[in-house]
Amino acid sequence: MFFPKKSSLDLSEKEFKEIGYQLVDSVAHLVNNMSEMALTTNISTEELRDKLVDYTLLDEGVSAKDLFDKTTQLLINYSLFNGHPKFMGFITSAPSPIGILADFLGSAINPNVSAQILSPIATEIEKQTIEWISSFIGLNINYGGLLVSGGNMANFTGFLAARTAKIPKDFKEKGFSGLKSKLIVYCSKATHTWIEKAVVLFGHGLNSVRWIPTNTDNRIDEERLENAIKQDLKDNNSPFMVVGTAGDVSTGAVDNLDALAELCKKYNLWFHIDGAYGAPAAALPELNETFAGITQADSIALDPHKWLYAPLEAGCILVKNPEHLTNTFSSRPEYYKFDGFSPELAHNFYEYGMQNSRGFRALKVWLMLQHSGKNGILKAIRKDIQLSKLFFDLAIEHPNLEALTQNLSITTLRYVPTHDNNKNKWSNLNYLNSLNEQLLGRLQKSGELFLSNAIVKKKFCLRACIVNFKTSKKDIEECIDIIVKTGEQIHFEMSSEYI
Ligand SMILES: *Cc1c(COP(=O)(O)O)cnc(C)c1O
Repeated sequence: MFFPKKSSLDLSEKEFKEIGYQLVDSVAHLVNNMSEMALTTNISTEELRDKLVDYTLLDEGVSAKDLFDKTTQLLINYSLFNGHPKFMGFITSAPSPIGILADFLGSAINPNVSAQILSPIATEIEKQTIEWISSFIGLNINYGGLLVSGGNMANFTGFLAARTAKIPKDFKEKGFSGLKSKLIVYCSKATHTWIEKAVVLFGHGLNSVRWIPTNTDNRIDEERLENAIKQDLKDNNSPFMVVGTAGDVSTGAVDNLDALAELCKKYNLWFHIDGAYGAPAAALPELNETFAGITQADSIALDPHKWLYAPLEAGCILVKNPEHLTNTFSSRPEYYKFDGFSPELAHNFYEYGMQNSRGFRALKVWLMLQHSGKNGILKAIRKDIQLSKLFFDLAIEHPNLEALTQNLSITTLRYVPTHDNNKNKWSNLNYLNSLNEQLLGRLQKSGELFLSNAIVKKKFCLRACIVNFKTSKKDIEECIDIIVKTGEQIHFEMSSEYI
């Protein structure tokens, strides 16, 4: 038999270094010069596909160095950069440089953080990361949990823990057929779409969600919530869980968590908080009141890849009594002998969540928390909020902008033309909605800045969410100019069609 000396998969140490040093140079340049670059490409899907023609799967391999040279250019030229200082769409943070390096190191070690015996130090690091995130937002460190891919998975995990905790133990054997009444979950109309996925995927059905209306601040109306619970009890349904939102995706509103906690206590319901975006802001002393009640949650979802600046992916679920996680997810098949060196202490993360094999997500978060320190992170979050307020204030001052909402680091606004002679026509809701929708589309393609949208009181708005330590005051001022200039142009085009 012939065994080649070197596998085609391997790289010599020399090659690895050569490619690696070049890569570090390119990435360092990218990270530090992004503000000068177009935020996104605007070339079509067909053209993008054409950029890949060289990369049809070949029979024989090619040089790793050539591959990296080409691929680095390909990605730099045709990506959307959510680390760009003027990226304010949806909720994705700029990746912390230390997180970028951490992913490289983590991949090299490649621990499987499913079982302690497979990832001795990585497991300890993830446990500590969970403790630190908990204590950062003011929870006692007995909360347990784990890192997952993002907010959806974190919320799903909390949802399943709630179900285990609040319904009869024989559910595991009998499933829904063993239940005498319908399980009901309550959340506000502003709740993220994960809840729909959860009730569909986990077999509850969409009818098991009570969408409670919000008040004018986009926060859940607690009186209507309590009435809905009472009605369900009267109808012999089984309320089991209330979802509060700490930072809703559209406007950043935080529900009255204290009031929700009280209601949950009164009716013996699981209190889950979806803080995927907003929860890290609970660490700011000036927001104590906004987040009052957060420490009473049974479970909290929070995304380090949002307001803790981790590169994708990193979500996190924290549970007050982590036994509800192991009761939900643990299974001990005969082929897993994971008791390890000290069975009584073995912490096997596969028993806490949905994944079996798990990557080392914690490393990038753990390093970032140490590198910035608590004060550094507070400062960054505070600055995002201040910039968002500046955005709002500049919009208020501008005669062609209408500022609509400002909560946490999310501002919504829209462009409004001021042509005296056609005032009624141009202030018509449909006209303005269509104008702002086109405006958003054009801004997104421009490569200059990136916003997303929200509907506030039927008004189509531009929405800026700042979770980016690279964004500056100057960026916000320039955004205002770009929005107004582009809005004017679109109004000009639309109104000439209109006449
Ligand atoms: C972003 C977000 C989610 C979903 O999180 P992913 O990380 O995208 O899965 C859920 N809820 C809220 C409030 C969010 O902001």
